[in-house]
Amino acid sequence: MKQVYIADDPADAHLVAGILDQFGISCEIRGEDLWSARGQLPLTADTLPTVWIADDGKYEKAIELVKQFESGTLIAGKGDSPWTCPNCGEEVEAQFTNCWKCGANRSAETQT
Ligand SMILES: [Zn+2]
Repeated sequence: MKQVYIADDPADAHLVAGILDQFGISCEIRGEDLWSARGQLPLTADTLPTVWIADDGKYEKAIELVKQFESGTLIAGKGDSPWTCPNCGEEVEAQFTNCWKCGANRSAETQT
């Protein structure tokens, strides 16, 4: 198990867990139960919900997804089909608004 994300709140943790799940990375959320005890406990990383992945081999992929999520490149819950990057031709999963390989914006796809 490796920790890949410290969430601001349980909803945030679930969002990230949902994204990882969509990409086939099984994960679990820890510390949710401590959330209700906030107020009595100091606000540290120990009392924030955290997301952990089961497969350490997917750590780098998970961290990359978290980074994409934090930068707003990755949109949770978008379930449509992959798109092809207009710049480099890479197939990009639907959750990304920008090509993960070259950074080109998806919206360029429909422009001529
Ligand atoms: Zn590209």
